[in-house]
Amino acid sequence: MVAVLFGVRSVSVLSKTEVKHKCQKSIYSNWGHHDCGKTAKYEHNGKWYCGIHNPPVVAARDKARREARDAEYNARQALRDAKDAVTAAEANVLSMVSEYDDLPIALQGAYDELCEARIALEAVSR
Ligand SMILES: [Zn+2]
Repeated sequence: MVAVLFGVRSVSVLSKTEVKHKCQKSIYSNWGHHDCGKTAKYEHNGKWYCGIHNPPVVAARDKARREARDAEYNARQALRDAKDAVTAAEANVLSMVSEYDDLPIALQGAYDELCEARIALEAVSR
């Protein structure tokens, strides 16, 4: 009876469909390096990985993260460039305005509007 049970158990362990692979991704934690150990579903270059550590999925996730970071950097750089252009135009107007003691009222109003727009731009772009 024991021999029969042992024989049945051996067959199930050796059966290809019964073998459960564990994720082989090396993880660093408080206890040092160890394998992830989750049930693996994907084989890549002879190693087994879970859904989180499957190398093609990791590469796609890293690529998406990189592209999002680059897009954010480019947007911030465009904002900096636009602000620099406004600053340069302002300095030009200010130097021209300062040369006139008797500035026409319309021009003075336009200059005040420019200053207010500049302050509003600074407030929203921080
Ligand atoms: Zn894993």
